[in-house]
Amino acid sequence: MNSTETKLIEMHEKSTEVYHHILMNTELGQKALDYLHDRGLTDETIKYYQIGFAPNNNVINRFLVEQKFEYQDMRKSGLFLEDDEGKLRDRFFNRIMFPIKNEFGSIIGFSGRVLNKEDSTAKYLNSPETDIFNKRDVLFNLSNAKAAIRKNDAVILFEGFMDVISAYQSGIENGIASMGTSLTNDQIKVINRHCSSVYVCYDGDAAGQNAINRALSLLGNSNLTLRVIQMPEGIDPDEYRKQFGEEKFADYMSKSIESPIAFKMRYYKLNRNLDNETDKFSYIQDVLKEVAKVDQPIERDLYINQLADQFNLNKNDLTMTMNSFIQKND
Ligand code: ATP
Ligand code: MN
Ligand code: MN
Ligand code: MN
Repeated sequence: MNSTETKLIEMHEKSTEVYHHILMNTELGQKALDYLHDRGLTDETIKYYQIGFAPNNNVINRFLVEQKFEYQDMRKSGLFLEDDEGKLRDRFFNRIMFPIKNEFGSIIGFSGRVLNKEDSTAKYLNSPETDIFNKRDVLFNLSNAKAAIRKNDAVILFEGFMDVISAYQSGIENGIASMGTSLTNDQIKVINRHCSSVYVCYDGDAAGQNAINRALSLLGNSNLTLRVIQMPEGIDPDEYRKQFGEEKFADYMSKSIESPIAFKMRYYKLNRNLDNETDKFSYIQDVLKEVAKVDQPIERDLYINQLADQFNLNKNDLTMTMNSFIQKND
């Protein structure tokens, strides 16, 4: 690590302390603290994640100048916006601050959330790309989760920070999330270095389901073992925990694991009307293409049987069609 990078990390570590102090101990942070308590986070969780609050008073700029950080380093930190005259102002204000760590536990960026979704500004604002912050390979919570990931030989991949944090508070410690963007190949490589299985647990809304489908495709190019943890329709993991409590949430998570094919059998139905012959035919074809990718003949047989039962079709015809897709895959 060069000296600029060390400085940038130092600035992030110090800013985290300031934001966290403001949240926990000052009048300025009271609303944000109430908000987090309202969402059901405990003080233990808030401290563990060093969550903070960025007020509207340019506090980080003043603090880092006081601490004798150099202007050029401050410019490069991503913590500030710069006006035409080169004057710096805090990039983050009126936001709840989630520190983002690299896989070794150094703080390299932030994601800031507005308190009111109704505000017209973006719900989450992330640090820009800097010398130390590269969105493409950062995985939120990886440094905290390492031991649990090794122990389970698996990660749970969530959509949002709050889902990861909710899981932690519920005793599920191997959760990680990408930076609000779709999963990248760089992130998959990082995951691959730590374990051999991925459980994809995205939101139960349409966006989440589409994102699972995309994630499975991308993860399919790795040799990771894949599973989906399916949320009830319309809610995300954090909302489930808020609604039903930590214990029921953990229980739900352990009981809602499905194979990628089981997911796709459901997913491919979403925009189709299976009473319509054309839709039914294309649905069966799509599923058979997935079945063709399964390595184990017995497992393939299982899905063929399911399809045969469900649509009252001849098993041999289904197997023949499926086999034609196996050849095309080669
Ligand atoms: P919350 O529970 O705090 O409302 P969420 O995690 O449920 O947030 P989603 O709308 O499900 O939010 O989005 C998933 C993730 O996508 C977020 O955690 C965040 O990382 C990212 N994200 C959402 N909205 C934005 C945005 N406007 N700009 C940047 N990233 C965003
Ligand atoms: Mn979502
Ligand atoms: Mn969500
Ligand atoms: Mn949410």
